[in-house]
Amino acid sequence: MKWSYQVTRLFGIPLRIHVTFLLLLLFFAMAGARAGEPYGPLYAVATIVLVFACVVVHELAHSLMARHYGVNVRAIVLLPIGGVSQMEAMPEDPKQEIKVSVVGPLTSLTLAALFYLLALVTEQTLSGKSFATFGPEMFSKLFWINLMLGLFNILPAFPMDGGRVLRGVLATRMEQVRATKVAVEIGQAIAILMFFFGIFYLNSLWLAVIAVFIYLGAEGEEHATMIRAALRNVPVTRAMLTRIETVAPQDSLGSVVEKACHSLQADFPVVEGDSVVGLLPKEIIFAAIHETSRETPVSQIMRKEFLSATRDETLDHVFQKMQGQGISLVPIVEGNRLMGMINLEQIGKYHMMCELAGR
Ligand SMILES: [Zn+2]
Repeated sequence: MKWSYQVTRLFGIPLRIHVTFLLLLLFFAMAGARAGEPYGPLYAVATIVLVFACVVVHELAHSLMARHYGVNVRAIVLLPIGGVSQMEAMPEDPKQEIKVSVVGPLTSLTLAALFYLLALVTEQTLSGKSFATFGPEMFSKLFWINLMLGLFNILPAFPMDGGRVLRGVLATRMEQVRATKVAVEIGQAIAILMFFFGIFYLNSLWLAVIAVFIYLGAEGEEHATMIRAALRNVPVTRAMLTRIETVAPQDSLGSVVEKACHSLQADFPVVEGDSVVGLLPKEIIFAAIHETSRETPVSQIMRKEFLSATRDETLDHVFQKMQGQGISLVPIVEGNRLMGMINLEQIGKYHMMCELAGR
């Protein structure tokens, strides 16, 4: 994710913080100072840091469970609206998806119970001492926040945790695409209610924004599920591009641009001798045009570490990997030899054609 920076690793999973999250900290510190909170801005910032630590624990629960089922987790990202676990894919087995989804809210509810106890204990032991309210007050705040986090996420509003549990439960009884459609409809209905409830009843812009995210997120997931279902069991060889131009590491950027200008192709595999040594997707070419000269050799700008697929992989598998890693171009290889290439446009084209053919 752009504008996010890695701060540490937890159990090997990078924890990244989005810059807008730091603005949120500043905002709370200023609000805390202005409102004359008993312990000032420091208290306000400490609270928000602890709240987000609880969000990280929630996400970590999802991530570790997903990893347990062999799903690669790229990072946990902290945004002002909460945390996101960037998984490469959700497990296809509905029972596994249920477990990966439900463990987050359960963790939050467990934390809530823990902070409730801490608030009780500290209130009794610290009463009468200076700073006495500091501990219990903070703990009861964290109790409420974790309780809300647990209950809010368990709402059956797909793609939130509860909605994924619902989809998983439905998918044990019906086909996955049908289960997703039902979960999406319920999720979007809840999102619409949430939006109006937030705007007119609670006067909460925050809830309305979350509702919009849920609505759009549900739509996106439905689309992705349908594409994956259509691509299932399709060998990658059936959809890959085979008439492709390649470039060599010593070619200049100018010559690549020249090639791109006179054909439909804008992504190029870089081939040396018989093997693929790099990739030159259009994003890199566009960026290089602005940043370097036309004489720059391909070897200096190409992506040297890249994902490739073999001829026996299926299209849905390759598509899922591309989505999970946010990449648009994959060479299909045998050993190291280039057999073909697949990009997102080609997958879209194939998908549209097979939908038409199936009608
Ligand atoms: Zn969650």
